[in-house]
Amino acid sequence: MQCLRAPGAGSLNASTLAPRFDPRTVQDRWQAVWEERRAFRAPDAPGGTTFSLVLPPPNVTGILTIGHMLGDTVMDIYARHARMEGRAVLWVPGLDHAGLATQVEVRRRLAKQGVRFENLPREAALAELEKWRADHAARIEAQTRAGGFSVDWSRFRYTMDPASVRATREVFVRLYDEGLIYRGERMVNWDPRLRTAISDLEVVHTEEDAELLYVRYPWADGAPGGIEVATVRPETIFGDVAIAVHPRDERYTSAIGREVRVPMTERTVPVVADAGIDPAFGAGALKVTPRHDFLDHEIFQRHPELSMPPEILDEGAHLTGPWVPAAFQGLDVPAARERSIDELDRTRLLVRREKYRHSVARSERSDAPVEPRISLQWFVRMRGLADRVVAAVAAGDIRIHPERWQLTFDRWMAGIQDWCISRQVLWGHPIPVYRCRACQHDNVAREPPVRCAACGSTALEAESAVLDTWFTSWLWPFAALGWPDRTEDLARYYPTHLLVTGRDIMFFWVARMMMAGYHFTGQRPFSDVYFTGMLRDERGRRMSKHLGNSPDPLDVIRDHGADAMRFGLVFSNPTDEDGPFGEATLENSRNFLTKLWNLVRFALPYAPPGTLPPAGPPVLARESPRENRWILSRYRRTVAEVTAALRAFEPSRAATILHTFVRHDLADRYVEIAKEALQGRRGEPVQRETRETLLFVLERTLRLLHPFVPHVTEELWHALPHDGELLAQASWPAEDEAPADPIVEVEMETVLEAVRWLRNLRAEERIAADALPAAWIRPAGAEISGVLAAERPTIERIARVRPLTLLEPGAPAPAPAGSRVVPFGECYIARPPANPAETESLEREREKLAGLLARARARLADDGFVRRAPPEVVREAETKAEELAERIRRIDEHLKSNASSPTP
Ligand SMILES: [Zn+2]
Repeated sequence: MQCLRAPGAGSLNASTLAPRFDPRTVQDRWQAVWEERRAFRAPDAPGGTTFSLVLPPPNVTGILTIGHMLGDTVMDIYARHARMEGRAVLWVPGLDHAGLATQVEVRRRLAKQGVRFENLPREAALAELEKWRADHAARIEAQTRAGGFSVDWSRFRYTMDPASVRATREVFVRLYDEGLIYRGERMVNWDPRLRTAISDLEVVHTEEDAELLYVRYPWADGAPGGIEVATVRPETIFGDVAIAVHPRDERYTSAIGREVRVPMTERTVPVVADAGIDPAFGAGALKVTPRHDFLDHEIFQRHPELSMPPEILDEGAHLTGPWVPAAFQGLDVPAARERSIDELDRTRLLVRREKYRHSVARSERSDAPVEPRISLQWFVRMRGLADRVVAAVAAGDIRIHPERWQLTFDRWMAGIQDWCISRQVLWGHPIPVYRCRACQHDNVAREPPVRCAACGSTALEAESAVLDTWFTSWLWPFAALGWPDRTEDLARYYPTHLLVTGRDIMFFWVARMMMAGYHFTGQRPFSDVYFTGMLRDERGRRMSKHLGNSPDPLDVIRDHGADAMRFGLVFSNPTDEDGPFGEATLENSRNFLTKLWNLVRFALPYAPPGTLPPAGPPVLARESPRENRWILSRYRRTVAEVTAALRAFEPSRAATILHTFVRHDLADRYVEIAKEALQGRRGEPVQRETRETLLFVLERTLRLLHPFVPHVTEELWHALPHDGELLAQASWPAEDEAPADPIVEVEMETVLEAVRWLRNLRAEERIAADALPAAWIRPAGAEISGVLAAERPTIERIARVRPLTLLEPGAPAPAPAGSRVVPFGECYIARPPANPAETESLEREREKLAGLLARARARLADDGFVRRAPPEVVREAETKAEELAERIRRIDEHLKSNASSPTP
């Protein structure tokens, strides 16, 4: 055994394990050691199998959230597990420049200093952006380090580093040459405040109050009446090209084909029939403004007889163009809306106004209402790229976990639209297009060209738009490994294995990475995708920056430790559920880790200096104690179940299995039973075997726990006899190392159940802690009787009863005694004689419980509570009420028996 000397820590042996678990000391120590030992550096020439993954590069906009920590923890569990399985692991960390999002943050920071971002010269603006990156990158890296995540920092990548620039340009040029990138006029989400196209992900829909206006469009031929149209946007009337009605709407059958006059103008437009109109909305007629509404644009495209009108809103959403009357020119949307309402009212075309609540699209970046806008942008044709991915996923080449998200995935892929990849911002990869001023030819090139390829002119102008930030991110699994160069990392570690991320970016990122992977490398980018749940706070609310209910991970780590955070995140987040996370979760984790700490401290005296590390479980003699067989078999089952849960991509289930094993089986039950043997009261051979069993199970259990809580396990492992330099480099326990003994498992369950029920009876009968009452069990069968008889001393010792008598079938029940019918028979415990003070205190307690029960029942009778509360809360309330009723019944029984028994 070789013991590692950690910096400043002295020799880490049994005698130096601190009495109390202090997470900060432990994590600082081991993070430094891992770093110094380059424990997570991926082998440059891996032998055997590999396991690789990329860390979803966080945006440089801010700091990491607790949601990031959930994803990072899941990835770390898999990375560490794979390392322990002996695979060569590469986990690439990185950072995303986050285009528009970063620019908005920098713009805001400058505005606070009275500087307008738009007024800065280009170079100065880029310098400000770079300054922002430098400030925030360090903080993000510090957070990742604090969590103990085993990334390979030597392979850190940034989405704007020179290699990423090359990869991005390469991809643009290839797709352009293949005819998969084009420039065209299409409708996009436009942020008029930031004056750029934005992605669907950056559009937030909020319910807002508005006014629905019923406007009359008079008949163009001067006939009385006209058509009523309901709209919330009267200022867009100037851009109307038609009125559309449903072809089977009888109110309008005769109107189809007639012309109406556009209010506030002298223009006339036709009434057209379109099956996309909802006859139930407003008056059943819709004004068609193809340049400024997605639905209107679709209707327009179904009617080739209509022609595209001129623009009525400029890039900043001010009214403009030949169709806008002079009085409205230059007005912004709110002012134009107000003026048009006045004008419609004055000309008696405003029929009525209604309060109306509807969904408004706003830009996440600037909060400005999004103006759909037809604009000249660059697009990627997605259909062909998507089809290949759909086929690959259907064939199982990439697996999605939890599986049910595959349906959502397929549905979205079926309706995929072309991707608008250009953005009118400064911060991003330039689009590698150089337009010829002489012949208008678009020169698309990897390196800026000197001359136009079409006419030879040198008058070339670089495209001013930049690329959407996802246009680099979608290349990440191979770009982060050095593509387009044929690097050694790419040859060894690509395709990667696992991608872990939130399902909110399933389409923006995950699906696109799949498309890029197959298209540019001919291979899947990863074999498995795992979507984490979304975190909620303890009141059940989704954690968000907006609500301010998402704690800073560094605060959580400072207050509770990285391991408690990690375990809490995974343990409380069942796969595919949006679990709660907060103080209670963290306390629970911290208690668990303290329990583990104390368990190892308990074991230390049984591992004096010179104790050999456990090479395997002890060889059991025929007369070995049942508890040793039991704990080894339970341990073996735990190895199998944890390994299977990880393989099935259920890290939370794996954590739960380990929690149950350590807390209940190992710490609460085994240690208590084994104490006597460990202290030598059952002879030397049993003592030795029990000691070896305890040390073996503990050492192996620390290995199983290591991927989840790496720091504390590394510390504890070094305190125990162990083989090797670092737990992080130890091997994952083999399932078949310990003997299975299912019969002993069942037998021990009976023994432990007997202890549990006798303890319950003690509590119910209010037996003093130092008393040793007599107890009886009437076993339900001969086999049970045999086991209980054999383990009688253990049961007596742990349940603190004496003597324990096993009753024959048909023997009379002892009295006076508290009793319970239990799965393995009947339990009795001798009741202490009644005393008046006790009766009084029981009566007081009964009164208190009755009050609580009445309240619990009233709550359950409240229909509103039952309907609105989450089902598990209702279930919990029901269980609580049942428990209260049972406790009252017990007290009643007790009081009755006190009344009939003689007082001493
Ligand atoms: Zn030219």
